[in-house]
Amino acid sequence: MMADYLRDEPLARYTAARLGGAADYLYIARDSVAELARVVSDAWERGLPVRVLGAGANVLVADGGFRGLVVVNRVSEVSFGAWYGGVTLSASSGASLSTVANRCQKRGLTGMEWAVSVPGTIGGAVVNNAGAHGGEIADNLSSVAVLDEGMPRLYTNADLAYEYRGSALKHRTKRDFLVLLATFKLESDEPDAIRARMNQMTAYRKRTQPPGASLGSIFKNPAGDYAGRLIEAAGLKGYRRGGVMVSPVHANFIVNADTASATSADYHALIREVQQAVAVHSGIQLELEIELIGDF
Ligand SMILES: Cc1cc2nc3c(=O)[nH]c(=O)nc-3n(C[C@H](O)[C@H](O)[C@H](O)COP(=O)(O)OP(=O)(O)OC[C@H]3O[C@@H](n4cnc5c(N)ncnc54)[C@H](O)[C@@H]3O)c2cc1C
Repeated sequence: MMADYLRDEPLARYTAARLGGAADYLYIARDSVAELARVVSDAWERGLPVRVLGAGANVLVADGGFRGLVVVNRVSEVSFGAWYGGVTLSASSGASLSTVANRCQKRGLTGMEWAVSVPGTIGGAVVNNAGAHGGEIADNLSSVAVLDEGMPRLYTNADLAYEYRGSALKHRTKRDFLVLLATFKLESDEPDAIRARMNQMTAYRKRTQPPGASLGSIFKNPAGDYAGRLIEAAGLKGYRRGGVMVSPVHANFIVNADTASATSADYHALIREVQQAVAVHSGIQLELEIELIGDF
């Protein structure tokens, strides 16, 4: 491995929960989509397990870390073009959702407001169908360039079979794909009106969600209900295990309340306890929204 690769690098530094053991190798891609593609392809060719992370905002990495290469994607390229009666936005997979939302606002383009305060990158959002405030990434997405099993492919929105916080990519057990770029079709609107909507969304989030290290919503909302309401009804709001806690502000958030002592094992055990308590209390099996990486 070359000098640019970090050895035994703790993944807690690269995940929103501030948890996770070391990766054997870690590479931070910053320069270009070509660089990102080269690093990931090299690992595939060598048969080295590889995992791409954006902001690590939706993953719980085990205390034992990851055997192989983690590529942290910070390649941020955003550009605009024209199409019939509208504008296209093209964003590299490492562009952050807030950067994309803010760039669109400045250009007077509506459709990406929901992303303003969602942590994460375009790549993670394309995999997860991230969304908030009634919007989601699938709404305006027109195509995604993916390196799939080493082959360049252009997938349409329909190819990706989007559903609530899921996609055909998220369901793949083998992570042998790399999201490179996404293209969106957007409509024009007044920048001030867009900014006002974004400010409202940010204020709502500040009012209703806890600050500090977390992974956002841990469970998907079951049809017709809210995971947070069910967890609260089971009496678990504020429930603590080691350094992690069911947030007293929003029960579907599990916060890392003590970064010095919290472990992924505690976080995972708390997830299981919550699932069991909700199943007993209301008969509903909560499904994970976040992903687990490594051995639990
Ligand atoms: C405080 C907080 C609030 C949140 N609120 C919301 C919310 O309102 N709505 C919402 O939808 N989510 C929310 N989330 C979850 C998170 O923001 C989203 O899931 C986001 O899409 C994760 O993006 P990421 O880049 O961090 O992905 P990561 O967590 O880094 O990765 C997620 C998955 O995508 C894969 N992946 C990432 N990039 C690529 C790529 N380029 N190619 C191939 N695979 C890739 C990873 O391997 C992993 O499987 C919240 C999280 C936090 C911490």
